[in-house]
Amino acid sequence: MAIRPIVEYPAPVLLNPGAPVVNFHGELESLVQDMFETMYDDEGVGLAAQQIGIGLRLFVMDCKGIKLVAANPEIISTEDEQSGEEGCLSVGKVHAELKRASRVTLRAQDVSGEFFEQEATGLAARCLLHETDHCDGILFIRHLSPLKRDIVIRRFRKLRKA
Ligand SMILES: [Zn+2]
Repeated sequence: MAIRPIVEYPAPVLLNPGAPVVNFHGELESLVQDMFETMYDDEGVGLAAQQIGIGLRLFVMDCKGIKLVAANPEIISTEDEQSGEEGCLSVGKVHAELKRASRVTLRAQDVSGEFFEQEATGLAARCLLHETDHCDGILFIRHLSPLKRDIVIRRFRKLRKA
């Protein structure tokens, strides 16, 4: 196992949809272990493969008692709405207020390729949406108004220089 360096905005790998995971044997298990280790090291609650420079539709998450590996994730239902702060390890943990669905259902494959569904609410729902977005090449800042997005990017750049 190894902690991998986090790739940050505006790296192209973060801004392009990942390729589907087709090989559920071999190196996937060790990649997933590295992703968990990297996520915990950075005190994140979710991490997508793109964030360590790998363009695959794959993420790990450990949030509010829901720990999972999701390959080829799809959000199959969303309900209600929540407002809250959201941040991303790839954007220097700069936070911004963002509205998201408050109840979601995810469909994905686990590390052996078995399909499963996972329901979540609150912060865990936000996390599933955020990580599935990563797999599609979408950062949370893309959901912000241009003004708010600018503020987040400027704060992030300042942090990088410091
Ligand atoms: Zn993120």
